[in-house]
Amino acid sequence: MGNYSIETKCIQSGYKPKNGEPRVLPIYQSTTYKFDSAEHLGNLFDLKAPGHMYSRISNPTLECVENKIADLEGGVGAALVTSGQTASLLAILNITSSGQNFVSLSSIYGGTVNLFAVTLKKLGIEVRFATPEMTDEEVDALFDENTRLLFGETVANPALRVLDIERYANIAHKHNVPLFVDNTFATPILCRPFEFGADIVIHSTTKYMDGHATIVGGCVVDSGKFDWCNGKYPEMTEPDESYHGVVYTKQFGNAAFITKIRTQLIRDFGVAPSALNAFLLNLGLETLHLRMERHCRNAEKVAEYLNNSDKIAWVNYPRLKGSKEYALAQKYLPNGVCGVISFGIKGGREAAVKFMDSLKLAAIVVHVADARTCVLHPASTTHRQLTDEQLVGAGIGPDLIRMSVGIENVNDIIADIEQALNEVK
Ligand SMILES: *Cc1c(COP(=O)(O)O)cnc(C)c1O
Repeated sequence: MGNYSIETKCIQSGYKPKNGEPRVLPIYQSTTYKFDSAEHLGNLFDLKAPGHMYSRISNPTLECVENKIADLEGGVGAALVTSGQTASLLAILNITSSGQNFVSLSSIYGGTVNLFAVTLKKLGIEVRFATPEMTDEEVDALFDENTRLLFGETVANPALRVLDIERYANIAHKHNVPLFVDNTFATPILCRPFEFGADIVIHSTTKYMDGHATIVGGCVVDSGKFDWCNGKYPEMTEPDESYHGVVYTKQFGNAAFITKIRTQLIRDFGVAPSALNAFLLNLGLETLHLRMERHCRNAEKVAEYLNNSDKIAWVNYPRLKGSKEYALAQKYLPNGVCGVISFGIKGGREAAVKFMDSLKLAAIVVHVADARTCVLHPASTTHRQLTDEQLVGAGIGPDLIRMSVGIENVNDIIADIEQALNEVK
């Protein structure tokens, strides 16, 4: 939507009704589409004409939401899939096969660590983890001629490390590979990684984008800026036998990556979300800008409160002045970093459990980034599959409590924390 600001795009982008058509994005609850001629359908099958033919590949409701997300991120195209995990998986498989490897920052979501270190390994794809502390030379040393991409998370869940996107984009591009960024926690409202050199963005739309904890979903967004014709990516530049010899870079130009992910991987793996889920996601996106602003302001106040409490051992929130992430947060997330805070209570694991059990407004749930305030103890839940070494790599201690600050009145949230802290002896 051209020069409109991001708030306007949240509401208006994607769906453009024509004269007399429904004002609100319709739910196209149809697996299939009708054609006047076999020739037209044949052209669709050969990817010679745009259009929908079967909802495992594309659907008009999904398409509108995909166009909105692409517009919000400043990309050339997007593809919705059934979860954030699927988004990461497909984005990697799109350019990586057995015998090849990729480099990933270690400070990423625990589920992604599992996917990379265990499941992709079984498929013959090796992940090489880089810690944020490594020098450029140390990260360089992880690359070889079979390295396909570099992967990081804008704001790591739950360690809240902020990715130095420009730095890692430079490293990736020096090795002629793209930088993939999981932008789930920041959302395009707070950070647009393409503006700092990232090439592919991934989202778990399950989190802030939906924002109401109603649908699991994911999205891949293509910046259209990476040069797939640099000699390293024959899957983009040589004929695809499953489409009568289509060459993605030739036929789809700078939308090659996102076209291939849809027409090959979403088609073959069958991971398209339902039209109803896309409709619900779109409702979430319409208020994303309002909610992110409130999540950030509330989280800042809660972080300040915790920081001033003598019952708290430490607080990690990149917007706190003393945070080691402060400078990166100022650069990449000047309007706020997200609603998630992590902290430790004096008294360690036992005190953490007592505190969580005493909360009345904030609930213990396996979720973050929705409208309701919630808490979680990652070491015993979401990250319990990780080894101690992986936990340290992801920046998670045994006493870490992750609080996802919602959009309730912040005074009620703080009063709840206060009464629960008073229960901890
Ligand atoms: C939750 C999450 C994922 C996984 O998303 P699902 O939708 O649960 O599959 C990936 N990355 C980040 C940063 C997340 O928070």
